[in-house]
Amino acid sequence: MTHQQTAYDLLIPPKEGRSFKLEKGQILKVIDVYGQQVADLVAYRGNDPKERLDPSVTMDALRTMNIKPGDILYSNLYAPMLTVLEDTVGKHDFINSACRPEMYEFLYNKPDHRSCYHILNSVLSEFGIPQPDQHYPFNIFMNTVIDGRGDIQVEAPLSDAGDYIKLRAEMDVIVAISACPCEDSVCNGYQCTPIRVEIS
Ligand SMILES: [Zn+2]
Repeated sequence: MTHQQTAYDLLIPPKEGRSFKLEKGQILKVIDVYGQQVADLVAYRGNDPKERLDPSVTMDALRTMNIKPGDILYSNLYAPMLTVLEDTVGKHDFINSACRPEMYEFLYNKPDHRSCYHILNSVLSEFGIPQPDQHYPFNIFMNTVIDGRGDIQVEAPLSDAGDYIKLRAEMDVIVAISACPCEDSVCNGYQCTPIRVEIS
């Protein structure tokens, strides 16, 4: 790479989010600090917020929900956005949309609950990215299990303290990550903890 790359770390506190820019070729490492914490990740093309990371397109292109190193995460326009370089967990979620107040009302009767939807909107606004009707993130460390009958169960993440996934940007991207604020289910092991991000 010929451009100047900047390395830095971010600690995302529990129930908070952060956004940042990656230049093409930069490496993003997302680390589960204490274990069993989901990180909702969304990404947009650096100069066009209408192109975004698309989990459905990614599943269509990969023909699997179980990504492995070497796999590419695609945009809604089928362009490579991020490549998986390393993954110490091997189980993440592509099918659940971001938690939002209406979900907390529907499932837990808690309509005022903090949510990934609003956390992502808030940190994306720093880059002028307009609020979508919903976020469809790549839910890192989320453990959604689908059985042979199609029944869906969210189970505790398989990640232990220090587990991580490492991704390489295949284009300039704006990334936002929310440390999911759901302490109401096994999704985050009934406890919300921080997510660490390293960019190099
Ligand atoms: Zn969430």
